[in-house]
Formats: sequence, structure tokens, C-alpha cells
Amino acid sequence: MNKFAIAIHGGAGTILRTSMTPEKEMSYKKGMEEAIRSGEKILSSGGAALDAVEAAIISLENNPLFNAGKGAVFTNEGKNEMDASIMEGKTLMAGAVTSVKNIKNPVTLAKAVMQHSEHVFLSGLGAMEFAEKMKLEFAPDDYFFVQQRYDQLLQAKETDSIVMDHNDTVTSGKDKTGTVGCVALDVHGNLAGGTSTGGMTNKKYGRVGDSPMIGAGTYANNNTCAISCTGHGEYFIRAVVAYDISCLMEYKGLSLKQACELVVNKKLVTFGGEGGLIALDKNGNITLPFNSEGMYRASLKSGGELFLGIYKE
Ligand code: ASP
Repeated sequence: MNKFAIAIHGGAGTILRTSMTPEKEMSYKKGMEEAIRSGEKILSSGGAALDAVEAAIISLENNPLFNAGKGAVFTNEGKNEMDASIMEGKTLMAGAVTSVKNIKNPVTLAKAVMQHSEHVFLSGLGAMEFAEKMKLEFAPDDYFFVQQRYDQLLQAKETDSIVMDHNDTVTSGKDKTGTVGCVALDVHGNLAGGTSTGGMTNKKYGRVGDSPMIGAGTYANNNTCAISCTGHGEYFIRAVVAYDISCLMEYKGLSLKQACELVVNKKLVTFGGEGGLIALDKNGNITLPFNSEGMYRASLKSGGELFLGIYKE
């Protein structure tokens, strides 16, 4: 059997070892392991990278620890508005949704847009109407209510700031949650990537970050790599991060690692764009770079050991 590989992230930001309890650390690691194992199950039985990406992200969306699906952060109006995207490297097909409410698993909606509509990107009420048509699962407002996320909103409102999920001060670094993503390579040699988020706490005016934008927060191309980003979305959009890495490989012949280093630790740093990403190439090489204090991340290759990381090594 050919090799498969998978990596996930649960967000980047000011995640400090000194402000984490052993119990919290355990629950994040458990959440990440559950997610990556659900993707591994599909890949090890010959399933598609696209389905593995969806399965891993669903697991993270259903976990209130992470800023996606159930744990999505609150907007200025006290709502949970979610963004998600997914892309298949073989066909360059992609699907994305932004500003959707009450959708239990936004990544599944993004996949449905890709597979069952003639479009790539749907927003708000229209996207939700499409979800109804696809008979996807809706959840009431209280499903998405997580007290800690609400406290973060109240704190952000006090200073009128828009806060990246891991950089809140309200929990003194104890209860960090984050945007989620997954990249996978299946035994058929196909790559896929996806990202899902509630965005940034206290966001206003229908703000949209990089996570649902193909080329910025998510990209997959069988000739190069699959990428899922997390960080301050405005900078990731302007730097077109995910596609830039693919282009550096395709047109300049850089390796995955070289391309990621250049974009995450040089270009984004010069810009002031805090965050990181998970990246996987067609040969199964994985790199998980970030320029923030930490990034929840995990990776696994067929026949290899599970890697789980939170802080800088
Ligand atoms: N990139 C996300 C956004 O800007 C936030 C994050 O990754 O934490 O919406």
C-alpha cells in the first residue's frame, strides 16, 4: 500500500507553557488525537484525502475547546458566525462558506458547495438556504454557547478590540481555543486541505478572515502541496499565504520546508502577520511552521508515530 499522511491544527497564538495546566494540556492533546485518528481511519482503509480532512475537522468542530463549530467565538452582536473551506488537490475543486450561523459542521457545508453546487463560495443566508436544501444538520443558538467564549467577547468589548482567539487576556492564557484545519495525502496520491473557524472575537460589519478564502487560508494542488492556515486573517489574506507557498514550489522550485519558512517566518513577520500553518507535499513531507508563541498541531504518517505539539520546541 502507498503511503498516507495527515496533519491538523487547532489554532495559533500566545500559547504559553507557563499559563497552561496539565489537565488543559491533556484535554487539548486528547481532542487533537481524536481528530487526527478519525482522519487516519479513513486514509488507512484507502479512503480519500478529502473525506479524511472533513472527518478530522468535524471532530474539532464538535469539540468546544476549539474556535470552530460548537466552540466558535462570538461576534460583536453576540452571535456565532462561522467560516469554512475545503479543497481537493487532484481536481482543484473547492468549496467555501462564510458568515453562516447555526450550521453544526460548516466544513461539511463547504464540501457540499464543492460537490453539489456550481459555485465555490457561498455566504450568509444563501449558504444556509443551500444547507437546508442539502439536508445538513442545524443546531440551535444554545448549542454554540460556551461561557468562556462569551466572557472573551465581554472583555474584548471593554477595550473595543478584535481579538485573535488565542490572544485573549480574559482567561489569563488558561482557556485558549483556536481555528482548526487539516491537510491529508491519501494512498492514491491525492492531497486535500480544509479550514474552519468562528473567526475573531468581537468581529463586526460581517468581517471575513482568511479561513474560508481559497488561496489565503486553504489551498491544495496535487502538483505541490496542501495548506491550512491559522492566524491574524487580515495579514494572511494580503499575503495570499496558502497559494504563495504552492507558487514558490511550482514556479521557483522551492521545497515545502523552504517555501513555508520564507512565507511564515520572513514575509509574514515583516508584514506583522502573526500565526502559522500546516503543510503537506505530494511526497508526504510535513511541516508545521508558526511565528507565534505556539500552535496546537499534530501529524501522523502511515507506519509512523503520532506527533502532538503546542509550544515552540
Ligand atoms: N485566521 C482566522 C481569522 O482571521 C483566525 C485564527 O486562525 O485564529 O478569522
